[in-house]
Amino acid sequence: MRELIGTCTSCGKNVYCESGFFDGVQENGKLLCNECADKEMENKAYSIQKG
Ligand SMILES: [Zn+2]
Repeated sequence: MRELIGTCTSCGKNVYCESGFFDGVQENGKLLCNECADKEMENKAYSIQKG
């Protein structure tokens, strides 16, 4: 079963919940697809490394 959760706040892509598996990340009321969540995590990791 595939359920539309909403659209990614970053790229506007539809984010689905499929068979209980959530195809994205929900954080502080913001919805992100996996791609944008990965990018955001990379950015965070990068800024931490960079100091
Ligand atoms: Zn996205």
